[in-house]
Amino acid sequence: MSQASYDPNNIFAKILRGELPSHKIYEDDDTFAFMDIMPRGDGHCLVIPKKPARNIFDVEDDSLAAVARTTRKLAKAAVEAFSADGVMIQQFNEQAGGQVVFHLHVHILPRFEGIALKPHTGQMADQAVLAEQAEKIKAVLAAQA
Ligand code: AMP
Repeated sequence: MSQASYDPNNIFAKILRGELPSHKIYEDDDTFAFMDIMPRGDGHCLVIPKKPARNIFDVEDDSLAAVARTTRKLAKAAVEAFSADGVMIQQFNEQAGGQVVFHLHVHILPRFEGIALKPHTGQMADQAVLAEQAEKIKAVLAAQA
């Protein structure tokens, strides 16, 4: 498999630079988390490293560890915020691996008994709904702090 290089003009790099809007949930020195714009269910959000990384093949160890820490933190908060029954964590690499945006990201998908996921990269959500869902997760994080 040939590994393409990091494109600094990918959508998530632009979100990190503040050139595109996002519904931010959380940020620390190494990671940033925001709502997925085409959610597969309530509370679907993404965690990305701040350091440029295309995917699992080029991400630095420390950056990946930071993403894992934030993923766990956000997974717990999202489950609590939506009273979910479980959570699915997904991460795709290269086109054949299902990757569409080429800045490493981890999906956090709260799951509910008997409720199927909507399609991957399906429909854009209402911005007001995303804003409201981001606030719900942020409120849980704030209560933990
Ligand atoms: P994948 O690379 O397969 O994990 O898919 C990219 C994910 O990013 C999909 O779930 C999209 O809905 C999501 N996405 C694409 N553009 C944006 C954006 N501007 N803001 C938030 N999420 C996005």
